[in-house]
Parts: sequence; C-alpha cells; structure tokens
Amino acid sequence: MRIAVLKERASGESRVAATPETVKKLIALGATLAVEDGAGSAASITDEAYREAGAEVGQAAAVVKDADIVMGVQAPDVAALNGAKPGAWVAATFDPFVQKDRVEAYAKAGFEALSMEFMPRITRAQSMDVLSSQSNLAGYKAVLACANTYGRAFPMMMTAAGTVSAAKVFVMGVGVAGLQAIATAKRLGAQVSATDVRSATKEQIQSLGAKPVFVESVEGIEGEGSGGYATEMSEEYQKAQAELVSSHIAKQDIVITTALIPGRAAPRLISDAQIATMREGSVIFDLAVAQGGNVEGSVPDQVVEKHGVKIIGYSNTAAHLAADASALFSRNLFNFLNAFWDAEAGKPVLDEEIGDAVRLTQGGEIVNERLKG
Ligand code: NAD
Repeated sequence: MRIAVLKERASGESRVAATPETVKKLIALGATLAVEDGAGSAASITDEAYREAGAEVGQAAAVVKDADIVMGVQAPDVAALNGAKPGAWVAATFDPFVQKDRVEAYAKAGFEALSMEFMPRITRAQSMDVLSSQSNLAGYKAVLACANTYGRAFPMMMTAAGTVSAAKVFVMGVGVAGLQAIATAKRLGAQVSATDVRSATKEQIQSLGAKPVFVESVEGIEGEGSGGYATEMSEEYQKAQAELVSSHIAKQDIVITTALIPGRAAPRLISDAQIATMREGSVIFDLAVAQGGNVEGSVPDQVVEKHGVKIIGYSNTAAHLAADASALFSRNLFNFLNAFWDAEAGKPVLDEEIGDAVRLTQGGEIVNERLKG
C-alpha cells in the first residue's frame, strides 16, 4: 500500500496533508510513504524530517507513481495524479458543490475521490473531521487578526493615565469557528455577544460567558437542519434578524461572521448601510468570504475600508496557521485511514456509513447522493 503526499498547488495554501508524525504512524500500519520534495516547507517541515520519519522524498511524478492512496489538503487536478494506480483513492477536501468540473474529471479518470468535508458529524467521526479542526483554528485566528487591525485594546485597562474600555465583540454564527472566536475574544478580555439561527447555541454562548443575541419575534422557527447544520431562513426571519443586527451592530467594535449553509452561498448578514452605523475604526472579519461572504463589500484576501470600518476576509484562514493546521489536518486523515485499516488486507476498507458519506466518485461515476440531489 503506497501512500503519496503531494505539495499543495493552490495559491495561498501553506498546509500539508501529512507530517513526520503521521508518516511514522502510517508506516507502522504497514504502508509505504512517498512525499513530494518541498511539500512541508510552508508549514515549517523539512524534507529531511520526512526522510527521518521513513518517507521516500522525491519529485511529484515519482511520488505519485503506483500510489494506492494520495492524500491532500485541497484535491489536486487529476493531471497531477498521472501514474497513480487505476482506481486509486484521493483523500482530500474537494469543495464538491463548487468544484463540479473537478469531481467529474476524477470520475472520468477512474479515481475514487474521498471528500473530507463530507465526513458525517457523528461522534465516532469527530477525530476525522477536518472541517472542525480547521474551523477551530480559523475562529482563533480571526480574533487575532481583528485585534491586530483594531487601533484600540481588547481588555479594559485601568491605568494611571485613565481607563481604556473593553472592546465589544459580536460573533455571528456559533458553529465550531464561532465558539472558538468567542472563547478567544473572552480570553483577550473583550465583552462578547453572539448570535445564531440554531437555538441550541444559546446555552453554548452563555457557557462561554458571552451574551446571546437572538431573534425572538419569529415564532416556531428553528434554524437547525440535517446533520446539525443550519438551513436557509424564511424571509420573515431574515427581516427580523436584519433589524436585530442593525440595532446591535452600531454598538460593536469588532464583528466576526462565520455563517455557512452547506451547498449554498453564505447568507448575507451585514449590509453596507449597517456598516455605516458602526464607529470609525471598528473591524469586521468575514470568515465566509470564500463562500460568497456574510458581509457586503468583503473581498477575499484583502482588507477593505468602508465608512471608516475595516473589513478583513481571508479566503483560507486556517492556512495562516500552517504548522498547527497541518498537524491537525494530517491527524484527521490518519485517524480516518487508521479507523478502517484492515490488517489482513493491508489497506483501509471503508464501512457504509462513512464510506458512502465521503465517497464522491467510484468506477467512473459520481456516486454521492448529496451531489446527485
Ligand atoms: P457551519 O460552518 O456550517 O456554520 C457556522 C454557523 O453559522 C453555524 O452554527 C450555523 O448555524 C450558523 N448560521 C448559518 N446561517 C446563519 C444565519 N443566517 N445567521 C446566523 N448564523 C447562521 O457550522 P459548523 O461549525 O460546521 O457546525 C455545524 C453543526 O455541526 C453544528 O451543529 C455543530 O455543533 C455540529 N458539529 C458536530 C460535530 C460532531 O458531532 N462530530 C463536530 C463539529 C460540529
């Protein structure tokens, strides 16, 4: 069983899908590991460290030759897989709802695309969940980026020269990233409030010592859909939410938006008119910028200034913490392969629940129900 790890090709991608730690663990299972030279350099991992862990390090074509499994952070173009075994697995993120051409190309080439974003949100798959591990880091980094950009302090400080008041931070969307953003902003001493469409998050917000801000005027609406994810909200809800945000946002110094709906563009939560009500020098971080953005006017990988408010949007926030993001991503991939490793067969054999959830292509066809729908 030969496992190949390629250097990431996407612009701005600094992560790598295997670290010396996971290379060793995969070799211990009985696999042979091949890593493209320079694959870990942006995550502070040298070729030498991979060699010491037992991997063969070489050029892409040699690494991929006869591979049974290719691991990636972002799935490579099929052209990069030339020479891999027919039907080889590629375990990576595929952005499958958006990158439809790539999924089709994988099907046509006969590879088995395993989309790590489609890992079911079930207890036994938690350790394999790249969305959680990367969102957690992204939520943390978003707060730090805001604190760096903000021209004032986060904590209240009582000094001989007078008192500096605490920053008011508002987190919109309390999934994995939002919870970490709340916790990080609290640690920095900010006054934190947060909102979500899922009522279950109210208690989670409170347990972190933040204030929940919720739409109460629309009766009988629950924003939680299948798998614990949010659903698209009614027009009535969206109107009530906009009113609530308008009254709250004008009093905030920092706003961090994280709202996503699987398979759809990110919901628009903040309008230009609402930004105009914020205090000069305030900062907004749009964590959903790559999915269309929660904030009007946010631009991927730019800091835009509107009405004296800076709007930050990183298209790949976890990549700004390349070493930790790679360490966690690669452990997620190892946990996935390890959980299904069949010692007798000397390879992983997926079960139905997780296999059917993550498998996009097989035998030349697109086989995933979520993509067919
Ligand atoms: P996500 O990245 O899909 O979305 C971020 C947050 O935005 C969510 O909390 C969502 O409810 C919220 N949101 C969507 N539309 C909104 C709107 N219009 N206004 C305000 N907020 C809005 O979320 P996620 O972090 O991937 O978490 C999704 C679900 O999965 C949660 O229920 C989470 O608890 C669950 N989860 C389960 C596991 C597990 O059991 N293995 C692991 C991680 C997450």
